[in-house]
Amino acid sequence: MPTGAVERSTPLVLHVDDDKSTLIMAESVLKNAGYSVVHASNGVDAIARFEESAPDIVIMDAVMPEMDGFHAIAAIRERQGGEHVPILMTTGLDDLDSITRAYERGATDFLTKPINFFVLPHRLQYMLRSSATAGALRASQSKLDSAQRIARMGHWEWLPERDEVAFSRGFVRTMQLPANDSRMQWQEFLDRVADADRAGLAEAAAEALEHGKTWSIEFNTQPVLEGGPRTIRLEAESHLDQNGVCTRMLGTVQDITERLSAQAQIHNLAYYDIVTGLPNRACLLRSLGEALDRASREHTRFAVLFLDLDHFKQVNDTLGHDAGDALLQQVAERINHVLRDSDVLSKSEESSEHHTVARLGGDEFVVLLGSIRRPEDSARVAQRIAATLREPFCISESEVRISTTIGISVFPADGQDADTLLKHADIAMYHAKERGRDGYQFYSRGIHDLALDRLTLERDLKYAINNDELTLVFQPKIDLATGRVSGCEALVRWEHPERGDISPVEFIPLAEDTGLIVPLGQWVLRAACEQMQQWHFSGYADFSVSVNCSAVQCTRGDMAREIEAALVSSGLDASFLEIELTESLLMKDISAGIASIERMKELGVQVSIDDFGTGFSSLSYLKSLPADKLKIDRHFITDLASDVGDAAIVGAVTRLSHDLGLTVVAEGVETEEQLAVLRRLQCDEAQGYLIGRPLGAEEFIDLLGEMGSDKRVASPSGDWHDQAA
Ligand code: C2E
Ligand code: MG
Ligand code: MG
Repeated sequence: MPTGAVERSTPLVLHVDDDKSTLIMAESVLKNAGYSVVHASNGVDAIARFEESAPDIVIMDAVMPEMDGFHAIAAIRERQGGEHVPILMTTGLDDLDSITRAYERGATDFLTKPINFFVLPHRLQYMLRSSATAGALRASQSKLDSAQRIARMGHWEWLPERDEVAFSRGFVRTMQLPANDSRMQWQEFLDRVADADRAGLAEAAAEALEHGKTWSIEFNTQPVLEGGPRTIRLEAESHLDQNGVCTRMLGTVQDITERLSAQAQIHNLAYYDIVTGLPNRACLLRSLGEALDRASREHTRFAVLFLDLDHFKQVNDTLGHDAGDALLQQVAERINHVLRDSDVLSKSEESSEHHTVARLGGDEFVVLLGSIRRPEDSARVAQRIAATLREPFCISESEVRISTTIGISVFPADGQDADTLLKHADIAMYHAKERGRDGYQFYSRGIHDLALDRLTLERDLKYAINNDELTLVFQPKIDLATGRVSGCEALVRWEHPERGDISPVEFIPLAEDTGLIVPLGQWVLRAACEQMQQWHFSGYADFSVSVNCSAVQCTRGDMAREIEAALVSSGLDASFLEIELTESLLMKDISAGIASIERMKELGVQVSIDDFGTGFSSLSYLKSLPADKLKIDRHFITDLASDVGDAAIVGAVTRLSHDLGLTVVAEGVETEEQLAVLRRLQCDEAQGYLIGRPLGAEEFIDLLGEMGSDKRVASPSGDWHDQAA
């Protein structure tokens, strides 16, 4: 069926002739052969009929009044649906000139008059069939063209003998050629290739031509006015004749510019850190894999430095995330700078390109020193990095100071695979942090065991908190003036099912590091309040309980809320609870310390400063802290009786505290001599093994009973009050 025609069961013929008899004769023949027919008697009439009936085929007389057949054909060809309709021109003029004219105007075929009516239907049938084939071909070509446009590709055919390259419209688009081009010489094609790629392409083509191969290549085009160069992938195959000579080469071109840039972008996202532009973990692991291969092959060493910035969180919290990002960028630059500095590492050229700085996320960086002679080389780099990061940074116009802690593992001694080396460097870094930040540490087996121990302990502690493996003991504290038990300190105990008793000195720091201190502290607080309230019910109402609170509890949790909750749930009156805060915690951030003490005091609880003298104690800070008590650390008490210096310190602290309205408690009192000096120095309260060791709740009450309400501390020189006097 010709294009543009309506779907019909019988093909419709438009027969145009000014001779009525010809029309009538033809009509009967055509109808007999299964056609429908419409008539027109001149060109003008023909155009009108054509538009009206959209015929499948046209028979057009040449010479007619008003408008001849040549003009009518030209007019039909210009109409929608008329471009491809088959037109058979009939005329008595059997001269070459009119035949040529007819074809020029767009006639499909030519028949001389008088018409052979026997042949006419067969001729029409043939024309319709070939028109249908041509229509199908056009449709398929247009589909191919669309597909090539969508795929940004085109195809071409090169006939080397004729030196001619023919190509599709897709090729024109892909290669950004002038729109009407459809063929060119091979050299013209080569001229479209970027200078840098031309020789390579020509060579590959020549080789394929010679050996009759299938080949492919990627090249850039010459930049054109509308845009920059495009990257093209060319695929081709050679067709050989019987003699094995390549006579034809068929190929495609595809514009892969966008695909390549998307690939590059995906690669970037997958392998690089957005903030610093450094390789990320995935990229580092790849580099580590390469380093492992190389070092195993060449029997060389390489080192992994695991860096963690100290106090980065503070920068983020105080200056904001943009400042944090800016800091990370500058850190990345400085580390890279250290690595570029040729003094730092062996000068061997090829090894320096194997160094990698990666950011693992947060404030963690890893430096891979691809090749080192001795482990000390990596220590030198670590020192340089630590030194350069200690220099102040300028972030959004303020000066920021940080430091860094570095753990080092070395292949092959500290691990045979990437994961192990990273893990061991991380463990070493962690260890270095524990020993005090801003330093570096090599990995060692000992560190590993320690780390493993801590992991197990952490797991067990978590279990212990949730499964009542913790208990409280209570250590009495007496009023030195009266000798009465004025309070007790609740101290946590952990009886590990396998390892036995574990000291809080061991597990409290672990709990602080892991955040477990928050649930642990909550447990202690509640248990202490409940115990105290229970004692009240049993009639013991003249002493208070003090609970230790760690720095991390104050910064990570909402201490005041937890205290309030423990008081509410136990029903204990706030005046019977005392909170011990360590001095070092308060000194770290004075204003935050003051704020948290004030919140606790609003609840009505007492606050004491624990372990006074062990931190960066500054007496001048004392007056700004709204605390009630000061507990002098036992280090000052131990040699109190023999060391005049310690006695002077304790005396001065006591006097100053009294001036500030603080009660003074001495910790770790073990001897009568110590007690005597404390009394002389007018210390208010004392706690220590001499008065009583930490005891379980029942034993504590027994002790209380033994001491009696006016129980006095035994003294070799007799009466308590006498001594005090
Ligand atoms: P601390 O708060 O200074 O507690 C006093 C520590 O000194 C206790 O050790 C106690 O048993 C010990 N002690 C008491 N009298 C004497 C003495 O005469 N001589 C000597 N040599 N030591 C004495 P403990 O129970 O091992 O606790 C150690 C530290 O663990 C505590 O020091 C405290 O900082 C922490 N801690 C204990 N329980 C808790 C708790 O429930 N929460 C928190 N956050 N920390 C706790
Ligand atoms: Mg304490
Ligand atoms: Mg203490």
